[in-house]
Amino acid sequence: MLWLLLSVQLMEFLWVLFNYLGIERTSTEPTVKSVGDIHLSFMPYSHSIASGVLLGLLAWLLIGKGLRNPVAGLAVGIGVVSHLVLDLITHAPDIALGPAFAVAGAMSACSPSDVSSRSRPARAA
Ligand SMILES: [Zn+2]
Repeated sequence: MLWLLLSVQLMEFLWVLFNYLGIERTSTEPTVKSVGDIHLSFMPYSHSIASGVLLGLLAWLLIGKGLRNPVAGLAVGIGVVSHLVLDLITHAPDIALGPAFAVAGAMSACSPSDVSSRSRPARAA
């Protein structure tokens, strides 16, 4: 049961970790009054279609094949992918097909002088 609870939040755990490490970026309005004031500016590694499907397959392989528990592996894999499906339904259109697509989009959306600051996001305090 714990594996299922963790599986549906795996992408969120990675999002928090990657934001903390400065790999992904999230910004907020000066005052956060609603979830609309939080901007998920760059999260292609924790939240993309390719990474969600890959994480689900990896969980299925590790638990289903590695631990020889195919039912648990399938349940955990579906749990991971279910997060992606629900995010696709509820998010603004901010989920990339894969990390390469988001990185290319971020690079083309800024001027050459912005590239160095965008490629090295500020770390959380
Ligand atoms: Zn999410």
